[in-house]
Amino acid sequence: MDIKNLQRENIKNLRPYSTARDEYKGQASVFLDANENSFGSPLPENFNRYPDPLQLDLKDAISKIKGVPIENTFLGNGSDEAIDLLFRAFCNPGKDNVIILPPTYGMYEVSANINDVEIRKVNLLPNFQLDLEGIAEAIDANTKLIFICSPNNPTGNSIIRTDIETVLANFNGLVIIDEAYINFAKQRTFIQELTEYPQLVVLQTFSKAWGLAGLRLGMAFASSITIDILNKVKAPYNISQSTQDLALAALQNIGQVNEWIKITVAERELLSKQLLELPMIRKVYPSDANFILAEVDDANGTYDALVEQGIIVRNRAKITLCEGCLRITVGTPAENSILLSALKSLKP
Ligand code: PMP
Repeated sequence: MDIKNLQRENIKNLRPYSTARDEYKGQASVFLDANENSFGSPLPENFNRYPDPLQLDLKDAISKIKGVPIENTFLGNGSDEAIDLLFRAFCNPGKDNVIILPPTYGMYEVSANINDVEIRKVNLLPNFQLDLEGIAEAIDANTKLIFICSPNNPTGNSIIRTDIETVLANFNGLVIIDEAYINFAKQRTFIQELTEYPQLVVLQTFSKAWGLAGLRLGMAFASSITIDILNKVKAPYNISQSTQDLALAALQNIGQVNEWIKITVAERELLSKQLLELPMIRKVYPSDANFILAEVDDANGTYDALVEQGIIVRNRAKITLCEGCLRITVGTPAENSILLSALKSLKP
């Protein structure tokens, strides 16, 4: 399978923007090439220089943790940027299509709509696993991308590994596995399978387990050909210097992150059990993520009552296969007990 032939013709022929710093080789100390402010920044730290367009120091640090080479790593302004770039690089507006598997993360559809790319929806089965036959039927010659979210948002479950492998073995476009919640899962990541599957793209993010949603930093791991295409299309300086500096500093604190993951997983199991004991809770779905999908007697009423007490959960009552459900992020132990007391106080 030739990834180069999957990209749009205009992208294949694109001469990417060449930054000032791309155009010289060797050592330099006087930079008069990029129209920056040579005096400095009105801040304790200087941000007057443009950042490294390819974020090599940060990728090097990420590579040491993930075991994925730099040439297989793309960094974006959140994984949302990688999702959008996949559409822009590979999908011809008004001609190509992509497959999504609802109920799932909402941005795949929004990005498709922004880019005027047809969406083919193949709902998950009632057990929230892949409808492999449905997917096979939906694929045609213009299908460029299939998005598989595992663990899936908003259902919380991981997708059965062998089912994902079946899609990888049978589809001639890019298979994007969104692993935003992988740190909370029992299931192994797919980032070690990149050499086996050239069409695989794995998305991960600093927004969940790493506690850096405000920084906006996402990762895409893929074949070097796919990564080169994304780099060609992205804005030259898509990751700010401050984001690169802060993410590098955060990577030194992996111990803290692993500790939070452990607590979150333990709290998830405890909260699931405690929710099930409440009469209003009809079902708590097993979760491999840092949130719980729960079916309640009156989702809209419960949602409103919680808002009144200053507690915000996500109302998923109108989403296919999630009728009557609320999605609840696992909070700190203190926050989880506030939620439980509030639910207990609601009149039946
Ligand atoms: N993928 C999934 C499955 C998500 O739930 C989210 C955020 N809710 C994202 C991607 C986006 O993450 P980021 O903050 O890295 O853009």
